[in-house]
Amino acid sequence: MSIIKDIGLAPSGHIKIDWAKKHMPVLNAIERDFIKTRPFSGKNILVSVHVEAKTAYLALVLKSGGANVAVAACNPLSTQDDVAAALCDSGVETFAVHGADDELYYKCLEKGLETRPALFIDDGGDLVHMLHTKRQDLMEGILGGSEETTTGVARLIARDKRGELKIPMMLANDAMMKHLFDNRYGTGQSVFDGINRTTNLIVAGKCVVVAGYGWCGKGASMRAKGMGARVVVTEIDPIKAIEAVMDGFEVMTMDEAAKKGDLFITLTGCRDVITKKHFDVMKDGAVMCNAGHFDVEIDVKSLRDTSTSSYEARHNIEGFTRPDGRTLYLLAEGRLVNLAAGDGHPAEIMDMSFSVQAMTLKYILDNSADLRPGAYRVPAEIDGYVAGIKLSSGGVSIDSLTPEQEKYLYG
Ligand code: NAD
Ligand code: SAH
Repeated sequence: MSIIKDIGLAPSGHIKIDWAKKHMPVLNAIERDFIKTRPFSGKNILVSVHVEAKTAYLALVLKSGGANVAVAACNPLSTQDDVAAALCDSGVETFAVHGADDELYYKCLEKGLETRPALFIDDGGDLVHMLHTKRQDLMEGILGGSEETTTGVARLIARDKRGELKIPMMLANDAMMKHLFDNRYGTGQSVFDGINRTTNLIVAGKCVVVAGYGWCGKGASMRAKGMGARVVVTEIDPIKAIEAVMDGFEVMTMDEAAKKGDLFITLTGCRDVITKKHFDVMKDGAVMCNAGHFDVEIDVKSLRDTSTSSYEARHNIEGFTRPDGRTLYLLAEGRLVNLAAGDGHPAEIMDMSFSVQAMTLKYILDNSADLRPGAYRVPAEIDGYVAGIKLSSGGVSIDSLTPEQEKYLYG
């Protein structure tokens, strides 16, 4: 039995899914193929990704491929209740409620696993963690899974290195057709979509501090610059720091940046990037948000504990009054601002990420006899396949090597 807020919200969810579907040509092509070939016939699949329109369309494509699909939230604030209702209405068991507390959030994951999936998609590693700890009893029958995001991949590799990964897991985030576009251009745009619609404040002329100059940080810095901000980058990796300098950004420690920033965006996958010592020196009115990992990049607990009071400054914005009278603002409780205060990455981006996911699940199924427990890269053929359809659907043709050129290059 699904756990959702209200099935009556389904009509609005269906409208959102239809819009997303119209802007996801690669997944449209995969859906047409899956309808003919039914690769997942009779298999149970669990999708634990942000429950919004693009994810819903992925679930429906897998269903068109013959699977019994269940969907579970991967973040308590990113669920859109109308989309969850539409999924349910389309015959997809759904376990997701916007604003779920920790207990309900983990119950939803558990209920998802209790559907006994043969294949699953994880986003951040919560499912894999649950399967290796509290619910090891549900491991049997799992052929493998696929991980959507950078932090989840890091956790998988660490677990694999310790020799503790008990199922085959594909690192979908590390596919070129995923992180090159999703993490960089997707995050770059959707972070500002979330910030701008939530604050309704100007970016031009502000000092925007971006913590982390990985794929996501590059995207956010590029977009902040494009909107007229002065961008400061903080890093712990000297090479990434040089890259940021060469890209034209100021680089400094967070201790320094804390005094200068008007808007702070954390994108590191690390914890405690902005802490009390930073709150103590920030400008009155500074705005903070996170788009990296769960809700641990900004030390929200200490912000709460050391402020004299807090109030709802605007929907999704909490204002914290500091002992000296300054006010600091936190967006979306320090959870992913692009998903908890926006609709996440645009459809054209998730089209590529989710096409990689759909093809990766098919790959696990086709190769399950050979896949041992461990972390695996997505085969380059899947990147090539997704890139090919993406280009042709946009009417773009590229050159191909002549036999002479091929010989010249590769001997
Ligand atoms: P990445 O590994 O490419 O980049 C992270 C960067 O942060 C690295 O350069 C690292 O050196 C730096 N860093 C680590 N700790 C730091 C610290 N304490 N201070 C400053 N810099 C620090 O990873 P990525 O692909 O850019 O992803 C970053 C995070 O965003 C991950 O948690 C990932 O799961 C998440 N993510 C979110 C979205 C979204 O939609 N919001 C999309 C993709 C990835
Ligand atoms: N589940 C964790 C981990 C970060 S999620 C958390 O919520 O904190 C980051 C992932 O969200 C990215 O890798 C990206 O692919 C995915 N994402 C971004 N926009 C999305 C969207 N519109 N729909 C579904 N997933 C999205």
